[in-house]
Amino acid sequence: VNRFEYVVPKSLEEAVGLLGPDARPIGGGTDLTEMMKDALVEPARVVSLKRIAGLEYIKEDGDALRIGATTTLREIAESETVNKRYTALAQAARAVASPQIRNTATLAGNLCQRPRCWYFRQPIATRCYKRGGDYCYAVFGDSSIHATFDVAACFAVHPSDTAIALSALGADIVVAGPKGQRVVPVTEFFTGPEVDIMRENILAPNELVAEVRVPASVAGQPSVFLKAAPRRSIDFARASVATLAEGSQVLQRVTISLGGVALTPHRALKAEEFLRGKRLQPETIAQAANLSVDGALPLARNSYKVLLARGLVRQALSRLAA
Ligand SMILES: Cc1cc2nc3c(=O)[nH]c(=O)nc-3n(C[C@H](O)[C@H](O)[C@H](O)COP(=O)(O)OP(=O)(O)OC[C@H]3O[C@@H](n4cnc5c(N)ncnc54)[C@H](O)[C@@H]3O)c2cc1C
Ligand code: SF4
Repeated sequence: VNRFEYVVPKSLEEAVGLLGPDARPIGGGTDLTEMMKDALVEPARVVSLKRIAGLEYIKEDGDALRIGATTTLREIAESETVNKRYTALAQAARAVASPQIRNTATLAGNLCQRPRCWYFRQPIATRCYKRGGDYCYAVFGDSSIHATFDVAACFAVHPSDTAIALSALGADIVVAGPKGQRVVPVTEFFTGPEVDIMRENILAPNELVAEVRVPASVAGQPSVFLKAAPRRSIDFARASVATLAEGSQVLQRVTISLGGVALTPHRALKAEEFLRGKRLQPETIAQAANLSVDGALPLARNSYKVLLARGLVRQALSRLAA
């Protein structure tokens, strides 16, 4: 690991002031420390967020469920409010890694963790685009964990389970920077290689995630998160789905967000549109599941993900119908 300065600010403003191109914020450290050990990132300064008072909370007000940046995944998974009223988010938090990691990992860190493409993560230097090179190894290499949707130059998939649930629940991310705070819909927070191949979200080097807000309008609406991974615990999603249904009997709105298949949470917009005004019946569910994988462009070794995603959508919608 490179030599670095470790700073422990007491307030959000102080933390923002300590950030910059050579600094990185750290929450639970379960991803950043791995990246540093493998010299994938070599910050001159690491800014700890864990001692900032008032950044770890889960609370509901009239407008939203508010979750502070340093709230751990365990707290979210165990929260009665989240389980009862924002079910998909609690299920997604529970699906992350292992109890040890969930004890430490923070919500903001989970959202901002870097991709797990095995070529990108190799400790030896590669010429991969995401490491500043000019090549994508997944194109002719082992693409079995890579993207099947929205592909452009980089085929890595978004690793966070909670991001998929938050995308389906229509959450907002509160970003803190030198000019104060701004609120960004989760659908605009995550970005693909067409914006900047070196990063996966809109954060500038001197900004950080301060809070996540889930709109109160979805509280209590049925939602579900499902994930398929080779191992039942401690494994990233090969495919996942989060879905939310609004409306009793006839659907006013359905959201379907797919994980493990694109560099950002992938909304199955055609399937969402198709379901509006319909009832969740077996034939409708089957058609929506087919539409949810419309436009997939698998690589040589990952076409199984299309079938997996379609099956998960079918299963998730069937659960909402039950
Ligand atoms: C064995 C293993 C299995 C795993 N399986 C899964 C899985 O199934 N699903 C899943 O979702 N994840 C999985 N993970 C990833 C794990 O969940 C993340 O490492 C963790 O959630 C990151 O949270 P953290 O607080 O430790 O982040 P950190 O390591 O502290 O930070 C991660 C990144 O986010 C940045 N960051 C931290 N806080 C902020 C902030 N407030 N604003 C802006 N940027 C910030 C850091 O600079 C860093 O780049 C797994 C990890 C391991 C090691
Ligand atoms: S998929 Fe992305 S991260 Fe992986 S090798 Fe290709 S460019 Fe690099």
